Parts: sequence; C-alpha cells; structure tokens
Amino acid sequence: MDLPRSFVIREGDLRILNPIDAGKLATLGRVLKLRPGTSILDLCSGKGELLCTWARDHGVVGTGVDISVAFTAAARDRAAELGVAGQVGFVHGDAAAYVPDEPVDVAGCVGATWIGGGVAGTLEILARALRPGGIALVGEPYWRIDPPDPATVAGCQAGSREEYQDLPGLVGLFGEQGWDLVEMVLADQDSWDRYAAAHWLNLRRWLDANPDDPLAGELRRELTEDPLRYVRYQREHMGWGVFALIRR
Ligand code: SAH
Repeated sequence: MDLPRSFVIREGDLRILNPIDAGKLATLGRVLKLRPGTSILDLCSGKGELLCTWARDHGVVGTGVDISVAFTAAARDRAAELGVAGQVGFVHGDAAAYVPDEPVDVAGCVGATWIGGGVAGTLEILARALRPGGIALVGEPYWRIDPPDPATVAGCQAGSREEYQDLPGLVGLFGEQGWDLVEMVLADQDSWDRYAAAHWLNLRRWLDANPDDPLAGELRRELTEDPLRYVRYQREHMGWGVFALIRR
C-alpha cells in the first residue's frame, strides 16, 4: 500500500501538500483557539505539517494517518525536528478504515475527501471519530469561477463540473449535512502558486538528475504542459479552502 513514486518526486521538499501556505496553516491553528492537550486526528496527513506545527505552537496532541510510506516517514522526521515527537504520531495506512481508540476533539481530512467518496461521506468518517461538539476540518476545492467548457473542467483536473461545488454551494452542502460552519481559511492565487509552481522546480531538478529514469518521459511531459494548464485553467477557476465544522 503506497502512493506512486511520481507523487514523492513532484512534492519534493514541500511540507504542505495543498494550496494553503505556512501562514494560512498557522492562521487556521490560531483561529480555532486550540488549547494545550487538544486531541487531533488528521486523516491523510501527508508530511504532517498541520499536526507538527500545531503541536509546537498550541500544545496539541494527536495522530496522522497516511497511505504514503515516504510522506509518513517525512512526518515523523518533522515531528522530531520540531521537538514534538512525544505529542504526535504518524501511522501508515488507509485513512478511510482508521478508527481512533478514543473520540477526538478535532478530526480533519485536508485535501483528500475522495476517502469518503466526497464531502458528505468524508464528514461521516470524521463524525465517527469525533467527541460530541468536536470540530471537523475539511479541505476541499471549489469553483471560484464557473468552468465555461469541458476543457476548463479537464484543465482543473476535475472529472466533471458536478464533482465540485462553487463556494456558496459548498457552504450550503455543509448545512444540509447538519453541520455549522464555524471558521474557514481559504487559499488565494498566491498560495496556489506556492503549491503548483513549486512542483515545476521539483520536477526540473529531478529530471536533470535522473534523465534515464523510467519516469523521466512522463514527468518531462508534465513539466512541459503543466505551467500552461495551471495558469490557463486552475489558477483562475479553482478555489480551495479548509472549513471548520461543528455538528448542529
Ligand atoms: N493533508 C496533507 C496532505 C494532503 S495531500 C496536507 O495538507 O499537506 C493528500 C494525501 O492523501 C497524500 O499524503 C496521500 O498520500 C494521502 N492519501 C491518499 N489516499 C489515502 C488513503 N486512502 N488513506 C490515507 N492517506 C491517503
């Protein structure tokens, strides 16, 4: 059970594998008013930056679950680097099937709602892990501008227009599912660039160092095509945010 190697190459030394930057992640931790000892379950925790920095800054404790061997190892290294390895742990496994021993104060899935087949199913997974009154965190894309044609939908790496809501649609969906939206931090085009554009230098450096690798052809094509795809479609049309929710 692991992610394809191309993900590890593309993400390179990025710590946040989503279009929010370190400042926005810190803002989110601050506005949630986390108290020391707050327990957090982070499903699809990537390289663990949320748990590790919030453990350092707010004294939270918790567990991250991720299917990538390399990202889980990076998360453990980061916890040691920040001196929080006693507070946070990282488990390699399928987040959809993970059930914590005890209900947690905060349960998140930031940028991986496919584990529940979408937002509604992911909220059910998070609700199973939460104590009554606990906070669910969902990171999810939305249409910033309605896609005018199928090329834009494809260019935003969406399977269909219906795969995502616009922002009012997404906020409406949270309410329909029985949750209060109590905070949110949204990506902007600059923080998208820190994610999307960072991939290009990661890819270029890797290609220069590994010209004969079996993945070189595929990743060469990606580096040639991705900047234009991104600026033409995704940067304009896709928004992204992390939404904090408490069950009504
Ligand atoms: N939440 C992190 C990572 C987001 S990227 C951050 O914001 O930085 C999406 C992550 O989902 C990747 O780390 C990938 O390895 C993980 N993932 C994908 N499918 C998964 C699954 N079924 N179970 C656990 N992790 C999964």
